[in-house]
Amino acid sequence: MRKKIAVLPGDGVGREIAKGAIAVLKAVGKRFGHEFSVEFAEIGGAAIDAHQTPLPEETLKLCRNSDAVLLGAVGGPKWDQLPSHLRPERGLLAIRKELGLFANLRPVIGFQSLLESSPLKPEIAENVNLMIVRELTGGLYFGKPSERRGENQEVVVDTLLYTKAEIERIVEKAFELAMIRRRKLTSVDKANVLESSRMWREIVNEKAKEFPQVEVQHMYVDAAAMKLVSHPRDFDVVVTENLFGDILSDEASMITGSLGMLPSASLRSDGFGLYEPVHGSAPDIAGKNKANPLAMILSAAMMLKYSFDLRTEAESIEQAVQEVLNAGYRTSDLQTAEGITVGTDQMIELVVQRIEEGSAISSIMGAYM
Ligand code: NAD
Repeated sequence: MRKKIAVLPGDGVGREIAKGAIAVLKAVGKRFGHEFSVEFAEIGGAAIDAHQTPLPEETLKLCRNSDAVLLGAVGGPKWDQLPSHLRPERGLLAIRKELGLFANLRPVIGFQSLLESSPLKPEIAENVNLMIVRELTGGLYFGKPSERRGENQEVVVDTLLYTKAEIERIVEKAFELAMIRRRKLTSVDKANVLESSRMWREIVNEKAKEFPQVEVQHMYVDAAAMKLVSHPRDFDVVVTENLFGDILSDEASMITGSLGMLPSASLRSDGFGLYEPVHGSAPDIAGKNKANPLAMILSAAMMLKYSFDLRTEAESIEQAVQEVLNAGYRTSDLQTAEGITVGTDQMIELVVQRIEEGSAISSIMGAYM
């Protein structure tokens, strides 16, 4: 198979970890006989410096002409003082909207070998395997432009706006994912307060008739926030609005012990996707060879699975990651009593080596579905 991938390293640690995803893809290509070509473009602060905009037209054009997009992270103190419409993070919101990436998938796994790194008790974090499906191009982050009103601007308005079609397509995606996982769907809303949540609930109930094998449960977002850290194993697929999903997925990320372990996929209905780690540009450790590259590497595995339907190849990456962790290697964000501390580059090398060695794939994780 030949595929062209747009790589947008972005800022801070984004540049260090993007290297890792590329090295891993090259190793997978060599082992399984595929050709992954990569082309680079700027986004975020780097794009502001070079082109005075966080999302240049050339970057969008490259993404549109590629088979998938890999993104590092954006942002940093250098650009913090810019007005909000010019900030690096605007580039992220804009690329998702421009490419129509409405479904954000964030798998959360309680890795056995990392249980010690989780702030949760091991008996709570172990065997967690859930997927948060966050609506990404609507809701509170994309309502009518926010505004301040009144003579002294003492009133402020943000709008949570959804069309029925926008809710239907994300809910359908979540049901499809539940069907290939454990067939349990939790829809998270605030239907006791918000009209948009009441419509969300109606649509979930309607869609459920098409997926009778899936067990459906509705949960208020405040209860979900509590249950995610008290009974995380009870969840399989969680589907929710943009803002709720943003908050809940960061909360759930702590189950794994580090933001540096969490990959994500943002998808369109036709399988095109943008893949990025959940974490930001980590300016406090940027340029120090300290960043954990595994979230980025696992995002590349998700790309193989969701955009290219290369499941065995994706599992070879997941397995390599699992083996490196089982062997005790840790970046500094994952300190455990007995780990061997390695830097970003060495962690990348270790995963690449495991892929090249090519042990039989036993789908230990099978989890980043
Ligand atoms: P962050 O995710 O960058 O960092 C939070 C903490 O986690 C830091 O202590 C950092 O060192 C650590 N961390 C993050 N990724 C890590 C990794 N791979 N390995 C080891 N440790 C890691 O969040 P922040 O500090 O709130 O934000 C920093 C910048 O990133 C801001 O400009 C913010 O707007 C931006 N941001 C971007 C994205 C994105 O690009 N998707 C997401 C969140 C934040």
